[in-house]
Amino acid sequence: MKILVVNCGSSSLKYQLIDMDGEKMLAKGLCERIGVDGHFEGKTPDGRKTENNNILNNHTEAFMEVKKALTEGETKVIDSLDEIDAIGHRIVQGGALFNDSVLVTEEVKKGIESLIDLAPLHNAAHLQGINACQEVFGMDKPEVVVFDNAFHSTMPPKAFIFPVPYEYYEKYKVRRYGFHGTSHRYVSKRLSEIWGTSLEGKKVIVAHIGNGSSLSAIKDGKVIDTTMGITPLDGFIMGSRCGGVDPSAITYIQAKEGLTPAETDQMMNKKSGLLGISGVSSDMRDVEKAAADGNERAQLALDILEYQVTKYMGAFVAALGGVDAICFTAGVGENSPSLRQAVCENLSFLGIEIDADRNRIRGEELKISTENSKVEVYVIPTNEELMIARDTREIVEKL
Ligand code: AMP
Repeated sequence: MKILVVNCGSSSLKYQLIDMDGEKMLAKGLCERIGVDGHFEGKTPDGRKTENNNILNNHTEAFMEVKKALTEGETKVIDSLDEIDAIGHRIVQGGALFNDSVLVTEEVKKGIESLIDLAPLHNAAHLQGINACQEVFGMDKPEVVVFDNAFHSTMPPKAFIFPVPYEYYEKYKVRRYGFHGTSHRYVSKRLSEIWGTSLEGKKVIVAHIGNGSSLSAIKDGKVIDTTMGITPLDGFIMGSRCGGVDPSAITYIQAKEGLTPAETDQMMNKKSGLLGISGVSSDMRDVEKAAADGNERAQLALDILEYQVTKYMGAFVAALGGVDAICFTAGVGENSPSLRQAVCENLSFLGIEIDADRNRIRGEELKISTENSKVEVYVIPTNEELMIARDTREIVEKL
């Protein structure tokens, strides 16, 4: 079975074609600047590449570009779209409506539409992506939606209710939803495979640290708390997002600078975080390099990241009542030995001990704690696309 996994943003479309026999990625790529001008890049794992700047007016034209790259020329991997059995879409916000992945129907599309207010940029783009797929692949091709917040739906109310007047939860469904759920689910599932047991009776923290970052506290395989909130903004410092800040600091800045709500959103999401503190970049590699070259604000940004990750880990250890394993994942979690080392040293009072040699690992799965460590620490590269493809297969096989 071949499954196309897609992630549609308002002006972008990322895709991977996965052969579920052996779970092998056959091709992947990216359409950017949709509706602006257009840029396309496609690759195959054996190193074939294609790239162009054809105009992409909308997501339908972007999918036509994907079709061309998959079925023609240098990067051809299939003869026709008929070979694709199903499509799996990443959807950021499922609200409290969707606790699991589902087959796309008109009713499901209406549900996703009803949540646009909660994730205006994301959900509207996802719907465009679903409609464009239906145009390009036909109405008969099964499409499945996998929600970023679904894995967090097991949180108890004390973790997801914000202490603002309760009527806002009742009227507008304002609450913590959490995101990166597909990644947290993939990593925790992988840990249970490594252990060869279910996560029943286990306490696990998954640290997804990338451009966007979140921690989750997982007890008995179920999320009991996570750092992101109603949008993927709460929690700790990220590439260009501020994470949790005293809310009155935000209204104060808003008043002083005369910012509209949209400009405030832009400030918190695009101009803050590592970028806002360092003034250098939102990219961890650039910030690490600048700090190594003596840039004090870049060093401060790294210090805040290390401090806040440590602080949330401590909070989640308390929430869980202990911890058996900590798993680092995503771009920074998988590739920054220095951050992992620093955070784990800060937590050495828990009996955590890191093997410095093992911790040199980048982007590979490995236990990085010593045999004496009281808590096992792992690097587990995430694979959200594979998780989406697995959910899609499971649903489509039942049709
Ligand atoms: P993600 O959002 O998961 O793709 O992660 C992107 C982040 O991972 C960016 O901040 C990158 O700088 C960071 N990253 C990727 N590779 C490395 C590396 N080798 N060392 C440090 N950070 C890295």
